[in-house]
Amino acid sequence: MSQDTEHVKCLIIGSGPAGYTAAIYAARADLKPVLYTGMLAGGQLTQTTDVENFPGYPNGIMGPEMMEDFRKQAERFGTDIRFGYVSSVDFSSAPHKVVVDETVTILADTVIISTGASAKWLGLESEQKYNGFGVSACAVCDGFFFRGQDVAIVGAGDTAAEEATYLAKLCRKVYMLVRRDEFRASKAMVNRVLNTPNIEVVYNTETKEIVGDGQNVTGVRVHNNKTNEEQVLDVTGFFVAIGHHPNTEVFKGQIDMDDHGYILTKPGTTQTNVEGVFCCGDAQDNVYRQAITAAGTGCMAALEAERYLAAKEAAALEV
Ligand code: NDP
Repeated sequence: MSQDTEHVKCLIIGSGPAGYTAAIYAARADLKPVLYTGMLAGGQLTQTTDVENFPGYPNGIMGPEMMEDFRKQAERFGTDIRFGYVSSVDFSSAPHKVVVDETVTILADTVIISTGASAKWLGLESEQKYNGFGVSACAVCDGFFFRGQDVAIVGAGDTAAEEATYLAKLCRKVYMLVRRDEFRASKAMVNRVLNTPNIEVVYNTETKEIVGDGQNVTGVRVHNNKTNEEQVLDVTGFFVAIGHHPNTEVFKGQIDMDDHGYILTKPGTTQTNVEGVFCCGDAQDNVYRQAITAAGTGCMAALEAERYLAAKEAAALEV
């Protein structure tokens, strides 16, 4: 197979808010960034509907439209945006080697990883059907749309516990669907859930189907795996909080990660353990996971890449 090789100053991998923000800053700093979008150009926000919490959009905006604006802004300053999927990397020496679609080899002086994370889903057909129309994997993003209504959340980890208490402040009632007879979440979080009067924990319960009227969610059909009983809970919102996985598979063995695959960065920076490789957005953040925090760290990564290159150039001149 023929291999094209190209040398770039700044390679950005991923096209969510983190990647595009890094691109805007890197392009304006004349780093001539090349950005590979990955398979889901625009990232997780292209799978949502209204985004109402991103500053600067007083009337809200649709997720896909917002990512289109991000892309246009990155392009306006000269980012070379390409559709492609990184198939392997070699960070053992500089410049760093990144292979795209198993055919194109990029040698990059700096690499900005912004590959994001993906929410885990139950895998039900009805969950897909109503995604964005009552089904959501982000309570902080979408809870507001269900003010005063009854909702359900599935999961029993810290994320589910945190999101259930968040939803309880907005919603009339929150059913928390726990598949075993106990939580996985920490004691403190469990206590917070149990002490919130409008959260009803439904143990030993599995979700069978998200029920809807063809347009929006109207309920959830659940099955008790101890009693074999089935019931439909009347809810207008259904939140999935069964974990996320960072999209970092391709970097395994090349860069330091935590046990869950999140890339480790030095506190307060986007620097990884590999010189010249920076990471921003959800690929390094399992706490906040917001578009605005991803964009913020994207900006940091570009500024750090620029400083890194400037320091290297200055050092080369001194020799
Ligand atoms: P976890 O992997 O910790 O928990 C996932 C939960 O989802 C488990 O309770 C699991 O059930 C449940 N689950 C998985 N698949 C299904 C399914 N098909 N049907 C029903 N339930 C299912 O993920 P989290 O996102 O909660 O947390 C990830 C990491 O982030 C953890 O280390 C957590 O401690 C940390 N975190 C910390 C926070 C904090 O400190 N403030 C906040 C949020 C996360 P089961 O238990 O039966 O396996």
